Amino acid sequence: MKITIVYDNTTLDEELKADWGFSCFIEFQDINILFDTGAKSSILLSNMEKLNIDPLNAEIIFISHQHGDHLGGLYDVLEKNKKAKIYLPFDDSKSNDKNRTYKLTKPTKITENIISSGLLECDERKGLVEQSLFFKCEKGLIVIAGCSHPGVRKILERSRIFGKPFALIGGLHGFNEFELLEDLELVCPTHCTKHINEIKHLFPTKHIKGGVGKIIHI
Ligand SMILES: [Zn+2]
Ligand SMILES: [Zn+2]
Repeated sequence: MKITIVYDNTTLDEELKADWGFSCFIEFQDINILFDTGAKSSILLSNMEKLNIDPLNAEIIFISHQHGDHLGGLYDVLEKNKKAKIYLPFDDSKSNDKNRTYKLTKPTKITENIISSGLLECDERKGLVEQSLFFKCEKGLIVIAGCSHPGVRKILERSRIFGKPFALIGGLHGFNEFELLEDLELVCPTHCTKHINEIKHLFPTKHIKGGVGKIIHI
């Protein structure tokens, strides 16, 4: 599995642009997935081009939650990619792509080894729902989260229906229940994660620095 961060608050390379938002391109068992689309399509598409990633190659486009910094690039990507299946956590009444759009409220296997968490609600902000992606491999589950608004605890709990989570990648927001990371082997806290430094200091061998251009091989 190869995960390339294509949109993030920081960048690892001056040629690539940082901006508040998140998106990553995932290559997993012959399936390519664009997870979230950042805030601005111009930045997303330019970063992807420089990283040699063609939006046409995504078979699945998965949006974690309905916030502009995850959704902003979506409609321009859909103009280019007319075939990918689209997984949205909301009803898109304006969409011209209804025949390829899916809303999964419950935990659902998209393929045998790619699973949507289904919609989890944020306790502090009622009505704000988010879905995460779980990838099943030999070691257990790789968990990819957009902002973790429902809380890392809920997301990891949900993943345990399908296996043992061992990696967590994405935005973790205000997450500070650091003990939950003890059982994981790898954590890449990025985007909106407030306590990146604490996580890095507590788990120096598990921590992976995020940023546009980061490629994680698992
Ligand atoms: Zn965000
Ligand atoms: Zn958000």
